[in-house]
Amino acid sequence: MTIILGIESTAHTFGVGVVRDGKVLSNAKSAYTTESGGIIPMDAAKHHKEVAEEVYSESLNVARINEGEIDAIAFSQGPGLAPCLIQGINFAKELSRGLGKPLVPVNHCVAHLEVGKLTGTKDPVMLYASGANTQIIAYASGKFRVFGETLDVGVGNFIDNFARHVGIGFPGGPEIEKLAKNGKNFIELPYTVKGMDIALSGILTNLKQKFDSKKYKLEDLAYSLQETVFAMLVETAERALAHTGKKELLLGGGVACNSRLQEMCKIMCKERGAKFFCPERSLLVDNAAMIAFLGEIMFKTSSRPTPDFTRRISKKLLLPRSRSPTQKLEKLDIMPRQRTDDVGVDWR
Ligand code: AMP
Ligand code: MG
Repeated sequence: MTIILGIESTAHTFGVGVVRDGKVLSNAKSAYTTESGGIIPMDAAKHHKEVAEEVYSESLNVARINEGEIDAIAFSQGPGLAPCLIQGINFAKELSRGLGKPLVPVNHCVAHLEVGKLTGTKDPVMLYASGANTQIIAYASGKFRVFGETLDVGVGNFIDNFARHVGIGFPGGPEIEKLAKNGKNFIELPYTVKGMDIALSGILTNLKQKFDSKKYKLEDLAYSLQETVFAMLVETAERALAHTGKKELLLGGGVACNSRLQEMCKIMCKERGAKFFCPERSLLVDNAAMIAFLGEIMFKTSSRPTPDFTRRISKKLLLPRSRSPTQKLEKLDIMPRQRTDDVGVDWR
């Protein structure tokens, strides 16, 4: 039996989750929100610091475990907002020192993909549509490769930015979805797919100009935004399926909560005979259960007998080992700009 604690703190959410042998026992969280304006990184970090202990206790209570049963502590090492990541790593290091248990640094984006296993995925193409990240990711030749991505802002940040412009607070996505449901007229917007990549900042400027001109209803703009930008996402995801020959599409990230995006993905999958997977909401948005879930896989891989070369990689991942934990702990740092394709994968 293995019990892994996971800690998530890349952006707006501070979460602590517990996974035992691949089963989620708890997924506690507290999210930073605003009435108007977007995320202020230092404020979000302050929020994380304030709620950390409470979220931790809640997570242990819901999981019905005590601290002593934890085998390892997994945490989001990156990518993310540095001030927020620092709160997470500091909390993880403190626990690691206190409990004498190893740390497992986890890549947030890869965790979104791997937690899809709970819904039945084996080897998916993932459309990862979140606030800061928008990527099409799939495993190929020993790594998670980025097949396509946004060339500027993430799709969630793009939606939030437009929402902010029209007076909606953070997060703007759910509000825009509600408005879009009442939109009737499709308004032509730029459609910017460049090979496997997309670009969103030009569309954002165009939308803001249209809104400011007062010639268009906000509902129609929200509707057209969704139809246009989600079509761009689905087009690139479909091309990745065709290119890799994979037969599963997995949605991930907060924007994947959007029912129109889910519907468009479903239609595309049906048309090309692929299977569509979408985790439940609590695992779609930023959450710590996915960090614990991947943390457990990495922890188990590193502790099983492996050929020498993989063991060398694994040793770098898991800290501290029994002898001089503190020194090794100090070396472990956040990776705010860590790329999905930089992650060493020795568990697949
Ligand atoms: P994440 O960074 O993965 O936690 O996702 C957060 C992002 O998801 C924010 O930009 C939200 O505005 C966006 N989001 C959440 N719910 C929805 C929704 N129903 N439709 C569109 N975007 C959403
Ligand atoms: Mg995320």
